[in-house]
Amino acid sequence: MAFDIEMIKGVYAKMAERVDTARDLVGKPLTLSEKILYSHLWEGTPTKAFERGKHYVDFAPDRIACQDATAQMALLQFMQAGKDKVAVPTTVHCDHLIQAKEGAAKDLKHANDVSSEVFNFLESVSNKYGIGFWKPGAGIIHQVVLENYAFPGGMMIGTDSHTVNAGGLGMVAIGVGGADAVDVMAGMAWELKFPKLIGVKLTGKLSGWTAPKDVILKVAEILTVKGGTGAIVEYFGPGATAMSCTGKGTICNMGAEIGATTSTFGYDESMERYLRATDREDVADAANKVKEYLTADAEVYANPEQYFDQVIEINLSELGPLLNGPFTPDLSTTVGTEMTEKATANDWPLQVEWGLIGSCTNSSYEDLSRASSIAQQALDKGLKMKSELGINPGSEQVRYTAERDGILGIFENLDAKIFTNACGPCIGQWARYSDPKNAPKNSIVHSFNRNFAKRADGNPNTHAFVASPEITAAIAIAGRLDFNPLTDSLINEDGQEVMFDEPTGWELPPKGFEVKDNGYLAPEEDGSHIKVVVNEDSERLQLLTPFTPLGRTITGAKLLIKAFGKCTTDHISMAGPWLRFRGHLDNIANNTLIGAVNAFNKKTNFVKNQLTGEYGGVPATQREYKAAGIKTVVVGDHNYGEGSSREHAAMQPRHLGVAAVIVKSFARIHETNLKKQGMLGLTFANEADYDLIQEDDTFNFLDLNEFAPDKQLTIEIVHADGSKDVIKVNHTYNQPQIDWYNEGSALNLIKKENAA
Ligand code: SF4
Repeated sequence: MAFDIEMIKGVYAKMAERVDTARDLVGKPLTLSEKILYSHLWEGTPTKAFERGKHYVDFAPDRIACQDATAQMALLQFMQAGKDKVAVPTTVHCDHLIQAKEGAAKDLKHANDVSSEVFNFLESVSNKYGIGFWKPGAGIIHQVVLENYAFPGGMMIGTDSHTVNAGGLGMVAIGVGGADAVDVMAGMAWELKFPKLIGVKLTGKLSGWTAPKDVILKVAEILTVKGGTGAIVEYFGPGATAMSCTGKGTICNMGAEIGATTSTFGYDESMERYLRATDREDVADAANKVKEYLTADAEVYANPEQYFDQVIEINLSELGPLLNGPFTPDLSTTVGTEMTEKATANDWPLQVEWGLIGSCTNSSYEDLSRASSIAQQALDKGLKMKSELGINPGSEQVRYTAERDGILGIFENLDAKIFTNACGPCIGQWARYSDPKNAPKNSIVHSFNRNFAKRADGNPNTHAFVASPEITAAIAIAGRLDFNPLTDSLINEDGQEVMFDEPTGWELPPKGFEVKDNGYLAPEEDGSHIKVVVNEDSERLQLLTPFTPLGRTITGAKLLIKAFGKCTTDHISMAGPWLRFRGHLDNIANNTLIGAVNAFNKKTNFVKNQLTGEYGGVPATQREYKAAGIKTVVVGDHNYGEGSSREHAAMQPRHLGVAAVIVKSFARIHETNLKKQGMLGLTFANEADYDLIQEDDTFNFLDLNEFAPDKQLTIEIVHADGSKDVIKVNHTYNQPQIDWYNEGSALNLIKKENAA
């Protein structure tokens, strides 16, 4: 059995005491989000109330989920921790590295051919360290997690931003960087700023063409892509309980598109039905016994304004189908004439080339069955597809069941392509063009979550619009972006005018779920004999060697780059074609800071080598300093390292020999990542000192031997003309973090403690 009922029962056994104590400490009724947070404190039973949006708190998550692209570096790091097994239940899912091109069978074979090295590595590490492994083709991480692992009241972290999908089954599930996941795998706490809380009250009931997807498209319109930042969105009200569990998953999934920490729903009958349908009777029985702790206190939902930081109300009976896009998921347009007007005014192509149904957002049995009811009508009413249609089932269990029930056959009768149970076009793994950069302007509609430029097919001219699966099917059949299936007719093969009836479908398969091989490989009980083999010549994988401590004496360090303006994790470690090197630190280090703008010439990847006086690329210049045994310093502006939580942005400079990053301010996760890799992440005590830094500067750290919490450091900057400036820098290292620095990295310290 994939999931661990004893672990879940253990969580529930402690819940009552922890939640009741928290309620006393907070002094008022608790939301569901607070109940889950307070029952997962690292310290156990709460001893104080935390201030939302202010206090950093240590948590103890119940589970970890990793996808194949991010798992590589996470597991390579975990191997450094000197542990025999992961400390909490963990799974790895192979879903991102599979391209969509010709259809499932051929595409899966191709992926297994080109990425077998990565898949084999992930499988053997999983087997060795007690990690559940889901093979390529088994399904998309978040759908598989919902079907197998998510449970009401649980806390999970995952190395993917749409980990939040599990909120559909009442979890607090949060996307994190690999370094955070490694800490928890190694038995450490996970830190999070206690989130603010946004309540969304859903009244009325979804009906007709309106789907759960439209709820989150509406929320995205209201809150915009930044509106959920630092907050958990908690949905409640009669509209919430009337909705399917997988529909709730869709809503939580796209919470990532409004920047929310996560989203969640209280335990209800739809969740119980889903648990029982997915063979988890014992989880449903256990949840029923602690029901009152798996939803907010009644008073909270009766007077939400008193308990949430912000409250939004949406009447589902008045909500209509929406199309969000292009290029941003918060730009909402009502289907039909509003789209005609907007598309005409903005020159969006009205003709639709492709409809894509699937992704972790909308690939449940219910989604496929409702979309297929539209496809069946097209066949029955003699309509011909006006655009192409592609389907990505969310899991092998959904695919097998949908095939058994004739759902996939309906799509195939419309000449749809059934792609692998994987991310495919949702993550740019769509071989749509041979030369995407020069591909024509066009529109597509999909039921995915993200629609940024180039996201699906690499073509910057593709206008991607996000909709529910049933609207995607209808628009793909009609071939027009402004088709409104509620009011518009189409002309069929016989020249007759026909209209679609409302979609129909099943929340859960009437004959139950079925699957022959779900693609899961359980790890061996004792994996100590398993040898993880990484070929020394591999260009995609490289075993890590522990970082050497930088020491308490840093003098003669050279300036590598003074970054000008925005410097995000993408500028520090680019994605795109570099994705394939995510498991090979030395190779991916060749993209280090190539996107950062040099403050002295406003060019990217063009810095002065102080040893030669020549200008060159950042990684090559840095490698020359490293070869000469010279440490370097990176200087940056405000919010340095914003963007993703990828640890590569800290590991790469560290690997290449950068000792310190001195900036006006940091994005917090990146600052922590630098600390974890045993580097110095420092901020100018006087921001204006940024202007003192010149191109040929040398840095001498004057009092690093006194490195201590809450104590500024002093740096002497020697300029090319021999003049000097002495500046103060601040830091936020606490004593354990200074210990990471002393040992060379957090992992080195874990390994040392483990060996002791
Ligand atoms: Fe991410 Fe898309 Fe895969 Fe979901 S389907 S995990 S959003 S790439």
